[in-house]
Order: sequence, then C-alpha cells, then structure tokens
Amino acid sequence: LNIIGVDIGGTNTRVSLIKNASIISASRYKSFEYSESNTYIRKLIDTIRNLLKDDNIMPSCIVVAVPGTIENNTVSYAPNLGWYGVTLGNELEHEFHIPVFLENDANLATIGEYNYGSLKGASNSLLITLGTGVGGGAIINGELFRGSMGGAPEIGHIIINMGGRKCGCGMYGCLEAYASASGLIKTAKEKYILNKRDFPKSISAQKELPEKLFEDYKKGDALSIEIIEEYIEHLLTGLGSLISIFEPEKIALGGGIMFSHEILLPVLKSRIDDFTFPGLRGKCKICRAELLDKSAHLGAYALAELKIGKD
Ligand SMILES: [Zn+2]
Repeated sequence: LNIIGVDIGGTNTRVSLIKNASIISASRYKSFEYSESNTYIRKLIDTIRNLLKDDNIMPSCIVVAVPGTIENNTVSYAPNLGWYGVTLGNELEHEFHIPVFLENDANLATIGEYNYGSLKGASNSLLITLGTGVGGGAIINGELFRGSMGGAPEIGHIIINMGGRKCGCGMYGCLEAYASASGLIKTAKEKYILNKRDFPKSISAQKELPEKLFEDYKKGDALSIEIIEEYIEHLLTGLGSLISIFEPEKIALGGGIMFSHEILLPVLKSRIDDFTFPGLRGKCKICRAELLDKSAHLGAYALAELKIGKD
C-alpha cells in the first residue's frame, strides 16, 4: 500500500510518500507562510506533485492530519490556522483523482498508537498528549471514537477546577490550563513570583523550563517540588475522571512533558488509585506513547489500511 500522508502542523506542514508503513521520501514547508487557505492548498498540491514526480509511484490515497474538526471532507474549524469551512478534501480529490481522507490529528495519532504503538491490542484505551496543549483520542471496542462532530474527545477541555485558571479556549479551569507544558510554565511563573525567584525572560528558556523543573524536583529543590506536585495533582484529577468515563485498560501519554517520563510515570502509577473510582482501581495501565514523531505518518498509514485495505 502506497499513500501520501500530510501532517498540517501550526508551524510545519510535512508531506510524505509512505510505502508499507515506511517513509520513502518527504518534504516540508512552513504552514504560516501560506496563511490564506487558497494559497496554502496550491502550495500543498505543488508539494505533493513534486514528491510524486521524483518517485514515480502512484499512491492509493491521501490522508491528511488536520489540527481541527472535520465534517464531510471539509475542515470545519481549525483555530490555529484560522480556517473555517475549508474544502480541502474535495480540492485534493479533484486534483489527484484518488480518495482523500481528512482526520483530526490527535485521532490519527491515536489510530497510529493502536495499530503500531503502545496501545496495540488495547481495544479500550486512550492516548493523551501533554504538549503545548492537551489533546488525545479514544479507542472504544477497537474503533476510534469520533463523537458527533469528528473531534471527540476534547480531553484538554474537561473542567478539573471550577472557576479556575482561564484556558486558551475561553473557559475556566480546563485540564489543558494546568496539565499542558504551557500550564506548567504558568504555575511555575505564579510560584516563582510569590517566592521572589527570577522567572526566565526569554521564550526559549521558558520552553526548557518543564524539563528543568522535573530535574530540580528529583534533586529535591523545594519550590520545584511544590510546582511539580501541583502539576501532578491536576493531571491525576483529569486522568481519574477519564478512567471513570472510558474504563480504559490502558492510557498512553505523549507530548513534550513526557521527555521527563522517567520521573513522571512512576509517580502517576503509584498515585492514580487515589483519584480513581474504587471499582476501577488497579485496572488501568499508564504508559508512555511510543510513536513520538512517527505518530502522524503511521496514523495516516493505519487509517488508509482501514479505509482501503492492506494491498
Ligand atoms: Zn479549555
């Protein structure tokens, strides 16, 4: 099976020619340099054409990972791209005359983990990414759960703290406002100011802060312990609720925060039962997502296998 996989990220768009779950050739460009959806689609079509010209392989379909919600092969809403109702699927089909499948990026990553990664064989399971935001997907009875509008579950926006910190979505107290890397940086900033510790000024130093906080937590720095313990409490509150709803046999955690998995995972495993409904304690395994930067293309490939078969 040969396919074209497209991963539309807020920063980069990656286009890959994939054969038997391996990338044969790939190309990338800066998504934000083509901020208008029409010019973006022209650039995408040119990039796919160039990739196909070099390799002379005819793909069976195109699978696109979209950071947003999808209805009828249309991107109905992608906040980071500023897209509303962009008919991406139809335009690519019109151009290449092969099936085009659009899927929410977190859902594709979930299918990838389920078929090729840490969730293999776990027919009721969750992938949760702890990155700039908090996202993820759910496998229920062996199938991807999409909800009624294709973007479910919005794991980052379950409310874990009534009247709490304002979230990027405009609501208050969402899991993402606390358990994302940016949430952790916000908690650190609040506590640094309270404790008169200098908060790093540069954006790059702030981005490195989560990993540093986990290291200092391990070394026994009192303020880092306070910050990370609060982070863990919030994350566990969210995980406990998700376990009650989905009764998953496994939860895989991915995203930038998991660079510190050696410190974080043992604590989560030892404390999750305190946040879990009694009848469900000890049943759900928590592990690290395995696919990392491969999740988009393996997710795309797994979806193509489901839609058009393995040959
Ligand atoms: Zn929110």
